[in-house]
Amino acid sequence: MMGLLKDKVALVTGGSRGIGSAIVRRFAAEGASVAFTYLSSPDKATALCDELAAGGGRVKAYRSDAALFDESEALVEAVTADFGRIDILVNNAGITRDNLMLRMTEEQWDEVIRVDLKSVFNLTRHALKSMLRNRGGSIINIGSVVGVFGNAGQANYSAAKAGILGFTKSVAKEVGSRQIRCNAIAPGFIETDMTHGLDDKNKEAFLAGIPLRRLGQADEVAQACVFLASDLSLYITGQTLSVCGGLNT
Ligand code: NAP
Repeated sequence: MMGLLKDKVALVTGGSRGIGSAIVRRFAAEGASVAFTYLSSPDKATALCDELAAGGGRVKAYRSDAALFDESEALVEAVTADFGRIDILVNNAGITRDNLMLRMTEEQWDEVIRVDLKSVFNLTRHALKSMLRNRGGSIINIGSVVGVFGNAGQANYSAAKAGILGFTKSVAKEVGSRQIRCNAIAPGFIETDMTHGLDDKNKEAFLAGIPLRRLGQADEVAQACVFLASDLSLYITGQTLSVCGGLNT
């Protein structure tokens, strides 16, 4: 541990599994106090809190649906009451509901836009208040390489992730004068539950296009988050950092 996030308070959405849980672990290891949310995995959230508390970290889990505006406001109020402030917000919660365009249901479209895109508005809108009071902060939005390049079968997801990139740049321009930074991370193909369902044929095709010739690990995304959350990146805002093994090169 290098203490890169010492004395900072972070809020991470979707911290119960995958990339989110890796971010929570890394942030705690770098000395941050970490609040994180979960929705349908209470046991995993509790286990993560117990694991990090045993290591001396200050970590707390909150059940909160990131797609809901009012629930996000209540969450931010609870975290601010418990931790006093929010210095870092990571909008990580996300889902996929893949289908070819002609078969995609209205429900599949709406659900992905709500959970993957509206959530980013919900949390940013409310957490900004604390950051404006502190005259500083770092917002990190987890996008995806498919938000840049598109992907057959993922029109809903790609639209949400591309939306995140435009949102990130706009917020960066709006709050930069208050020393609040807003950046996006675009992961490529990372090994989590989300990509578990992909068949081997698909994986092989993906690997051929990845210069590093392997899938990424959740912790490798978490390390990029530490950089953007910490004072190592104080002059970086409005940017998208790809963590994709070179996939988009
Ligand atoms: P994952 O393993 O499926 O985990 C998703 C997380 O999001 C879980 O902790 C889940 O919590 C939470 N979540 C889902 N819906 C939520 C909601 N409405 N409110 C609050 N939390 C919610 O996915 P992942 O692979 O770690 O993905 C994390 C982020 O990275 C997503 O934004 C995803 O789009 C992005 N990403 C992933 C990849 C990849 O290859 N894996 C690539 C590019 C981008 P519960 O289980 O408690 O419900």
